[in-house]
Amino acid sequence: MTAGTGPGETTPPAEAPQPELRRDPITAEWVILAAGRGKRPHAPGPAQPVDQPDEDCPFCPGHEERTPPEVCANREEGSCDRPGWKVRVIPNRFPLLVSGANRAGVERAVSPDRRPALGTSEVIVDTPVHNQPPWVVGPHQTRAMLEMYRDRILALKKAGRTTYAHIIRNHGAAAASSLEHPHSQLFGLPFIPPTIDVELDGFVFAHPGKPGCVLCDIIEEVEKDGARVILASENFIVFCPFASRLPFETWIVPRKHSLRFEKCEELPELAEVMTTVLNSFREKLNDPPFNYWVHTYPLHGESRPYHWHIEILPRLTLAGGLELGAGVWVNTVSPEEAAATLR
Ligand SMILES: [Zn+2]
Ligand SMILES: [Zn+2]
Ligand SMILES: [Zn+2]
Repeated sequence: MTAGTGPGETTPPAEAPQPELRRDPITAEWVILAAGRGKRPHAPGPAQPVDQPDEDCPFCPGHEERTPPEVCANREEGSCDRPGWKVRVIPNRFPLLVSGANRAGVERAVSPDRRPALGTSEVIVDTPVHNQPPWVVGPHQTRAMLEMYRDRILALKKAGRTTYAHIIRNHGAAAASSLEHPHSQLFGLPFIPPTIDVELDGFVFAHPGKPGCVLCDIIEEVEKDGARVILASENFIVFCPFASRLPFETWIVPRKHSLRFEKCEELPELAEVMTTVLNSFREKLNDPPFNYWVHTYPLHGESRPYHWHIEILPRLTLAGGLELGAGVWVNTVSPEEAAATLR
C-alpha cells in the first residue's frame, strides 16, 4: 500500500499533469485528481485459493453450530444449521444494531439524541468455500449471493421496521474484513444514512422541479465519451466515475432507470458482470482490498428520485487528514487511466 499524499510525493515528476478539481455530478463534492504523483498504488498479490475448510473458521461447512442459528439459507428444503448450503445468513454475533426481539438493556437510552440501536445486523456467508470469493468460484455462486441480497432486503421491507437496508462487502484486512471466509453484511438501519440522503438530494437538484435522472444522464455521457467505460452489457454499464474518490473507484449501474436493487430482474446478468469486474481487479490490480456496497432506495417513506447502483472502492491508498478532516478525497489515478487498465 502507498499513501496517496505523502510528503515525499509533493514534487511531481516534470511530465505529471497538473492536479485538477472534479465535482461529482450527484453529490456536488469536490475531489482532487492528482494523477501521476508517485508510483501507482499496488496490492500485495492474491492469496492462492484453497478449496479446504479451515479448522478455526466458524463460517465453514460443518461448523454451523459455532454460529447463532441461521436466519435463512440457500439449501435443500427441511435442513437447517448443517452443511449443504450455497449461501447462509446468520445474525451477527457482535451486532451493531439489535432487533426488537433482543432489546433487553437497550430501553434505557431514550432522548431526542439518544435512542436504542434497534435494527438488523446480519452476516451473509457468500459461499461455502473458505478461501475463494464467489467471483472466483464462478457466476453461479455470485448469482446465489446476489439473490440472497435481494431476498434479505425484501424480508426487511416486509417486516416493516427498517428504513434503509444497507448491504456491504469488505474484502481484505485493509478494507476492514475481520474474518477471511467470504462474507457480506446487511445492516437494517432505522434512518436514511447521510450518504444516501446527500445522493437523494443530488437527484432532486440535478433536475429541479421536472422529471429526469442525473444517473441516466451520466450513463448517456459515459457511453458517448467511452473513456471511462470498463464494461458494457445488455442491461448494465460499469465505469469509473468522473470524480472518482480513490484510484479505480468503479460503479455498476443498471441501464434501465430503476429505484430499487431488490426489484432487479437481471440478477443472472449482474452476476456475470460482477464476476468479470471483480476478477479483473484480482488479475490487474493483484487482488486489492476493497469495499463495495449496494446503493438502493429507502424501504419506506421516500419520494425523491433515485437510480440504484453498486459502488466498488478499492483501498490502495490510505485516507489522511485531508480526507477525514475536510471530506476532500485525493485520487492519484485518473478514472480514464483506471478504466483503460480494468477494461
Ligand atoms: Zn471458512
Ligand atoms: Zn435513472
Ligand atoms: Zn451511490
